[in-house]
Amino acid sequence: MSKSLRMWMLVLALVAMPFVASALSEGPGVTAEQAMALLVDGNARFVRGDVIHPNQREDRRKGTSLNGQHPFVTVLSCADSRVPAEILFDRGIGDVFSVRVAGNVAAVDEIGTIEYGVEHLGTPLLVVLGHTQCGAVTAVVKGEQVGGNIPQLVAPIVPVAERVKAAMAGQEMNAVVAAAIEENVWQVIDDIFKGSPIVRHLVQEGKLSVQGAMYVLESGTVRFMGKHPAEERLLAYTGGPGGH
Ligand SMILES: [Zn+2]
Repeated sequence: MSKSLRMWMLVLALVAMPFVASALSEGPGVTAEQAMALLVDGNARFVRGDVIHPNQREDRRKGTSLNGQHPFVTVLSCADSRVPAEILFDRGIGDVFSVRVAGNVAAVDEIGTIEYGVEHLGTPLLVVLGHTQCGAVTAVVKGEQVGGNIPQLVAPIVPVAERVKAAMAGQEMNAVVAAAIEENVWQVIDDIFKGSPIVRHLVQEGKLSVQGAMYVLESGTVRFMGKHPAEERLLAYTGGPGGH
């Protein structure tokens, strides 16, 4: 093979790469495993610093405005300005159905939005993404005074903080906060299953995978935590709006 031919093949491969990533994210039929691979690959690019910014150009904007959105993942993450899902997974327009709220809690508004993502838009993957240094969880663990509507917002985190503090009595505060942030991810998944017959049915039918994850601000890495260790128990919940 001539040197110039090899060079042209390399150029073609580099040009085609964003389109391959883009094609994978399009439309129905993406599996939870493929969706997870897109997130893992995108976060690896982000951490390495070789981002490709897929689906952020005019053609993608026009395409999704004409053909509608077909995101491959629903992500519930914190409103923290350091945790923008599209950036840390190196994705673009129409890829991530993104739900953001302080402490990545799942009350009725969040669960309703998640249901739109997983049922109406049919994303095969739901990721509950906590993050290190989460201010909402930290405030609850430390018992900081908060006003306005915030006490009601962070109410679901209170039992998490109490549980972790009781289990880690006497341990250093940073360790307790870190454990509470992780435990909060599991509690949020629990709250979603409890509050959503739609999510339970989709998981039972094998159409949806619900995964916990932790974004490490300091390194840029997303650590996937897997599905809830007691998912079978969560699937046995009854009730919730439209439930049985
Ligand atoms: Zn946070």
